[in-house]
Amino acid sequence: MIRLAGLLFALIPGVVAAYSLTPQQIAPGVYMFEGKTEHFTRANKGDIANTGFLVTDDGVLVFDTGPSRSYGQSMRLAIGLVTDKPIHSVYISHHHPDHFLGNQAFEDVPIYALEHTIETIKRDGDAVTDSLYRLVGTPMAGTEPVAPGEVVSLGRQQVGGRDIELIAAGGHGGHGAADLMLLDHTSGVLFAGDLVFHQRAPTTPNADLDEWLQALEAIEALDFRVLVPGHGPSSRGPEPIKQTRDYLQWLEEHLRQAAAEGLDAAEVMYLDLPERFRGMGVLEAEYRRSVAHLYPEMERETLKAVGER
Ligand SMILES: [Zn+2]
Repeated sequence: MIRLAGLLFALIPGVVAAYSLTPQQIAPGVYMFEGKTEHFTRANKGDIANTGFLVTDDGVLVFDTGPSRSYGQSMRLAIGLVTDKPIHSVYISHHHPDHFLGNQAFEDVPIYALEHTIETIKRDGDAVTDSLYRLVGTPMAGTEPVAPGEVVSLGRQQVGGRDIELIAAGGHGGHGAADLMLLDHTSGVLFAGDLVFHQRAPTTPNADLDEWLQALEAIEALDFRVLVPGHGPSSRGPEPIKQTRDYLQWLEEHLRQAAAEGLDAAEVMYLDLPERFRGMGVLEAEYRRSVAHLYPEMERETLKAVGER
């Protein structure tokens, strides 16, 4: 019902305000659109994740498409102001709705993702779209989940004179069960997706912390010069990787210790957080979500360990 109302809005021209997206050039021919380091609100229209694009001789490669149909359309318009090259293809980093719901604006070109991402969008796409309609409202008008149609070929490849590499994180990812990155060896830009956060607390609902920490090791070893995280500003060095690692290591130890002390989840949610993380966007909200998702398992493990003694 909520989506039907949205569709009616979408049919009235001008009712759905476009996003004002400004491409930031981060290397020759490589741009990002920087999302806000906030949670979804009506005010930010769900524009909370980074997206980007690379101009090649054969056309434009797009990395992630944002939270709504209107965002995808705005992205296409903004790309058109930078280059007259056609869109060549789209790569989707993972299945979270802030990263793929602009796919509708790119249905005329191949959209690539890891197989698990495609399956998850097919299975959960409707549910996550509904939840964004509730959080963001009218800017979602007309948005329907479009699963990527193509399984991405990993590895190094030449596209329109650019030497790019498509990389899947670890065995099962880390942040989610499947995370795709794009490294452009020509410019040294790495689009890391949500494996890396910067000045914004990491999201952990689908995370395996140990695998994520291993993935961060692998990312740090990659030959990049500019890092575009999934959320937060780009960086010319590995700072966002270190920040993400520092937070995840702290989170794991902090939750284990709380479990060992026998605290219940409600108590853990309201513990003071370290000073060094205070500058991160949505810190409290993400921390509480992480407690809700991760703490029950830590409590079970702790009880089991005690029982085995
Ligand atoms: Zn995200």
